[in-house]
Amino acid sequence: MTAQLIDGNALSQKLRLDVATRTTALKARGVTPGLAVVLVGDSPASAVYVRNKVKACADAGLHSVLEKYDADLTEAALLARVEALNNDPAIHGILVQLPLPAHINAQKVIEAISPAKDVDGFHIASAGALMTGATGFLPCTPYGCMQMLDSIGFDLRGKHAVVIGRSNIVGKPMAMLLLQKNATVTICHSATANLKAMTLQADVIVAAVGKRNVLTADMVKPGAVVIDVGMNRDDAGKLCGDVDFAGVQTVASHITPVPGGVGPMTITMLLVNTLEAAERAAA
Ligand code: NAP
Repeated sequence: MTAQLIDGNALSQKLRLDVATRTTALKARGVTPGLAVVLVGDSPASAVYVRNKVKACADAGLHSVLEKYDADLTEAALLARVEALNNDPAIHGILVQLPLPAHINAQKVIEAISPAKDVDGFHIASAGALMTGATGFLPCTPYGCMQMLDSIGFDLRGKHAVVIGRSNIVGKPMAMLLLQKNATVTICHSATANLKAMTLQADVIVAAVGKRNVLTADMVKPGAVVIDVGMNRDDAGKLCGDVDFAGVQTVASHITPVPGGVGPMTITMLLVNTLEAAERAAA
């Protein structure tokens, strides 16, 4: 079997066109969706991420501002900036790029963002909304993974989904979203005794670990759907995921590539959340 690719670039293109259309409609009502991206410090990786986010906004017709600060910005000064953005009517979504320098309490900064502008979906109010089924903002990466499953018409009801990783930004919300769609969900982590025994039972596997080759072909049931969230570098320095792509694609029915899979979808769902925030504010 050679797995079908779930192409994150192609799906993103389609969804971003829809964002652009809805943005045009909102602009006609006098509201331009606006995203503020706050970057503290000079991490080259973070600089690339925020550049991509700002460019994606511009391409879809959203307004965005990039606020860059030196690594020695105080926590108090950052909290004051977040508060100013909370009160700025031109800004509907606020994203503080993580990680923050060690002297700043990232959770405190996230909690300072108004839940109505929490387009990253990391605020405790968004996490609580997801847990209880209330309206909030979904974290962009798991939201994007769900869109990818949806794009292949995969009905999760009664299926066994295994999520590898339990972070607050990927693994846990991913598991909640799969549960909402009536999958039976197993969450695996670094203390899971026999990962292979778990993954072999799965109809869907989401790998969100941050280690190469966490999932190999012998760990995958034939015909399973595999979503690779990981972002790692191989020996040649090339971007790769958590999944041994060459091996697993011979067993799975569908698989997401890295690059060109979950990565672009994460940015797309940020645009969707920002637009949604603006639509809610305009309602
Ligand atoms: P994280 O906070 O480091 O969490 C990693 C998780 O993997 C933890 O729950 C950890 O378990 C678990 N783990 C570690 N080693 C394991 C093993 N050998 N077997 C099973 N589980 C293991 O990372 P994250 O923020 O969730 O991100 C995960 C990966 O996704 C990273 O590569 C990140 O770069 C990538 N990512 C990609 C995107 C995108 O847009 N494509 C977005 C976000 C993240 P414990 O909890 O027990 O430590």
